[in-house]
Amino acid sequence: MMNVPEFFGSDVFNEALMKERLPKDTFKALKKTIANGDPLNIDVANVVANAMKDWAVEKGCTHYTHWFQPMTGLTAEKLDSFISPTDDGHVIMEFSGKELIKGEPDASSFPSGGLRATFEARGYTAWDPTSYAFIKEKTLCIPTAFCSYNGEALDKKTPLLRSMEAINKSALRILKMFGSDATRVVANVGPEQEYFLVDREMYAKRKDLIYAGRTLYGAPAPKGQEMEDHYFGTIKTRVAAYMKDLDEQLWRLGIYAKTKHNEVAPAQHELAPIYGTTNIATDHNQLTMEIMKRTARKHGFKCLLHEKPFAGINGSGKHNNWSISTNTGVNLLDPGKTPSENAQFLLFLSAVIKAVNDYQDILRASVASAGNDHRLGANEAPPAIISIFLGDELTGVLDSIVNGVKYEGQRVEMEIGVDVLPHFPKDTTDRNRTSPFAFTGNKFEFRMPGSKLSVAGPNTVLNTIVAKVLDDFADVLEKADNFQDTLDDLIKKTIKENQNIIFNGNGYSEEWPAEAEKRGLLNLKSTPEAVPTYIAPKNIELFSKYGVYTETELHSRVEILLDEYCKTLNIEALTMIDMAKKDILPAAATYIKELAKTAELAKGCGADDSFETDMVKRLSTLAAQTYKKLGALEDAVVKCHEIEDVQELAAYYHDVVFTAMGELRASADEIETLVGEKYWPYPTYGQLLFYVK
Ligand code: ADP
Ligand code: MG
Repeated sequence: MMNVPEFFGSDVFNEALMKERLPKDTFKALKKTIANGDPLNIDVANVVANAMKDWAVEKGCTHYTHWFQPMTGLTAEKLDSFISPTDDGHVIMEFSGKELIKGEPDASSFPSGGLRATFEARGYTAWDPTSYAFIKEKTLCIPTAFCSYNGEALDKKTPLLRSMEAINKSALRILKMFGSDATRVVANVGPEQEYFLVDREMYAKRKDLIYAGRTLYGAPAPKGQEMEDHYFGTIKTRVAAYMKDLDEQLWRLGIYAKTKHNEVAPAQHELAPIYGTTNIATDHNQLTMEIMKRTARKHGFKCLLHEKPFAGINGSGKHNNWSISTNTGVNLLDPGKTPSENAQFLLFLSAVIKAVNDYQDILRASVASAGNDHRLGANEAPPAIISIFLGDELTGVLDSIVNGVKYEGQRVEMEIGVDVLPHFPKDTTDRNRTSPFAFTGNKFEFRMPGSKLSVAGPNTVLNTIVAKVLDDFADVLEKADNFQDTLDDLIKKTIKENQNIIFNGNGYSEEWPAEAEKRGLLNLKSTPEAVPTYIAPKNIELFSKYGVYTETELHSRVEILLDEYCKTLNIEALTMIDMAKKDILPAAATYIKELAKTAELAKGCGADDSFETDMVKRLSTLAAQTYKKLGALEDAVVKCHEIEDVQELAAYYHDVVFTAMGELRASADEIETLVGEKYWPYPTYGQLLFYVK
């Protein structure tokens, strides 16, 4: 029997281990650094590094690495061994405080969006002591932030840490006025991770999955997800073994893997951890994705984290559950039970509502990618329009606050700070799955992020925009002669002015985009439309004010994101061209030839050749059509080289290349429905989705 409490976190240099292995003073100093974000003294770092090394070596490690999260959205590591030569030709295992605190990887091959010219290729990684070191594949991993020598962020973690500081400061300003004794506020995240598992042998036969991570062709299988029999269905034995293995590995790394189940689409699953502080939740989610992929290999699966691996069935998202709480254990998005707690809650709630309304553009931009464009607005994920779901009860309360409308017939008006809010049961706040941003009782669930995305980006935006509104609120409240009245007015005014973003209806309905437009909400449908909003003047001002991104960093990010979009589409287009030319058209030709031969034989003996002749005609027409579409896509790709500006290029990929890809696919997929199975070069949707035992 495995004893989970015993091995949980056994591969993590966590607080318990620090306490056990560090001298008292060192432990205290380190804890202070962790709690207050103070800089770490080198003497302390030396002792910590040595203790970490001893522990890691005992556990069989030979190397350490500064583990970081470059702009690729993946994680990166460069391994260094602990060996240090001695005079007598031997080695000892050493790890210094300097090596722990700072690394200097050659950074020239990571995307920097022009931030770092190759002649000054060096970047540096700096330990984030709030995230524990851990052991992965016999290597001691130090979670770090990655910057250029001028201090510009080259990663996703640095801005996230900066945004955490912003929300901490702003929220504390507000809390002070409510008489709270909290000294630190953190944002929490619980990311629900969706993924697909397909058989590895089948995967290896599909160039599109190998190169693009998604199927670029594929006719629908006879069965899809219409029977609704997969969601929460019994987990297949092989999948269950995979999930068990995955859980164990995550637990060893101190990751609170909690819930696992089958998702809506066939072969789709979900894993949800218990939520944690934003930066740690982000690290853990990156690790989870990595270990999901690695474990799949062991079990003969390929884990697909792409946002839309299959057309016609659900894609995968990553619901980002987000809340803010104090070090005194108060969740600031929990309505609470007393009038004063309620008033504080309503203020934080209004701040989130206003922030989301004011900064719809960057919230949308923070989840933009070529892969996620397939999901947003399809019938499985919220549309690309940002709106907030509050549920009828809470909306009713807010209405009563603003308009003096009766709430549940009991009160003429809800009075802030006097009346007690009614209880909102979770099931009434969690019903609407079509909303991109839903209040679910004591947290918001941002449902737009795609499965592959690092949650660093959206949470950086969330933390910053809420910090901004809280600061504006604090400016007003700190000057108030009468706190209660000013608070009252502020909440009322904010709710009134931001009612346009609150939408409790069906976000998947056809009427919603038109209604949203009337309300003045943005509908940034694609990545090329969404990403440049990062550099709108109001957003540059916001991020600069909080030191989250400098203007230069924002420009570099836009460049990196659009460049990534273009490269993704380019790879997809080239893969489609290759598949059509080398596999699909040849398969059609072989089958046509076979049919034509058979037709001739049939004719020769006076048999009915209608099937063969008919099919030859239909397939030849389709093959010719596919060939034409193939040519059109090739032409479209060639023209890309003429465009230099990255925004223009991204728009071109979206409008021209992507459209040409869709046309080629439609025609090739029709061929698939007609060609004999043994002639078809790839495992089909049916085989990929249903044949795993
Ligand atoms: P669902 O009905 O969407 O599955 P759950 O209550 O199971 O909702 O929560 C899903 C995720 O939300 C989990 O990762 C959970 O840890 C996280 N979560 C719960 N409470 C909070 C909170 N206060 N802040 C952030 N995340 C939270
Ligand atoms: Mg959820």
